[in-house]
Amino acid sequence: MRYDLHCHSIYSDGTNTVTELFDKAVSIGLSGLSITDHDTIKAYKEAFALVKNYPLKLLPGLEVSSVYNRKSVHILGYSFSPRDPCIQKFMEKIQKIRADRNLEMLNKIRCAGMPLDLSELKEDIGVVGRPHFARAMVNRGYVHNTREAFDRYIGDGEKCFVQGSRPSAQEVLDVLHEANAFGVIAHPHLMRNEILIGELLKLNFDGIEVYYAVMDSHEEEKWHKIAEKKNWIKTGGSDYHGEIKPHIDLGSSWVDEQTFELLYQRYLENERLHTTQ
Ligand code: AMP
Ligand code: ZN
Ligand code: FE
Ligand code: FE
Repeated sequence: MRYDLHCHSIYSDGTNTVTELFDKAVSIGLSGLSITDHDTIKAYKEAFALVKNYPLKLLPGLEVSSVYNRKSVHILGYSFSPRDPCIQKFMEKIQKIRADRNLEMLNKIRCAGMPLDLSELKEDIGVVGRPHFARAMVNRGYVHNTREAFDRYIGDGEKCFVQGSRPSAQEVLDVLHEANAFGVIAHPHLMRNEILIGELLKLNFDGIEVYYAVMDSHEEEKWHKIAEKKNWIKTGGSDYHGEIKPHIDLGSSWVDEQTFELLYQRYLENERLHTTQ
């Protein structure tokens, strides 16, 4: 049994609808998945209605953009009830932060001679991220491809990049824990700063994403050891985004039934709490 715990839908910067994700999951033989959109859980309303028609288990999850010592850190949250008021309030907060940041980025891009309308970034569904900016810049002919958009303008630290007032890693963990959910360090191998990693590992995370589509075995072993030592959950997933990252396929990383059930049982527990309230 295989379960992919990291993928994105059109509710953030993935290009697949929930139906497409589920169809694909079934066709490749997954037993379940978690849709971990950036800073939103909006996919779950549709996803829970649809999943009844599929031989799949669906675990609530999300990927939050946080900062730690001024560096970007992605945190995966799992097992909350999507109805949890604490989670819902936090979603409103971080989506407002993202919207404000997007307006600032739009302004910087305009000042660099490339006017864009907000409506060009995305239809009115889910949250907008930098890949949407990149695509709009390509559509307008400002850049040849999305890579050029990132390299020249919107990549971390480039002239049109705005980080925004993202929540701190600790704040994200506090919200997740208040919702009786798990907080997991996403794709740890992408953080190259050893000091940052050392400090981050002192926080009260519950897990590390040890299995990731494009992580070499040496890295995997390193994070596996750290997780073992800390007695943290070893999660894994593909980080599938559809067409915007065509080299990564759904199910290319996964966890086994035991790990999935550990997270899933916590979700059921949280869901029961919100049903009886
Ligand atoms: P955002 O959350 O709006 O800051 O956008 C982050 C997303 O942009 C990440 O999930 C990546 O998919 C994408 N991204 C960030 N940096 C780059 C880059 N240099 N090249 C291509 N995609 C990138
Ligand atoms: Zn993404
Ligand atoms: Fe990420
Ligand atoms: Fe991701």
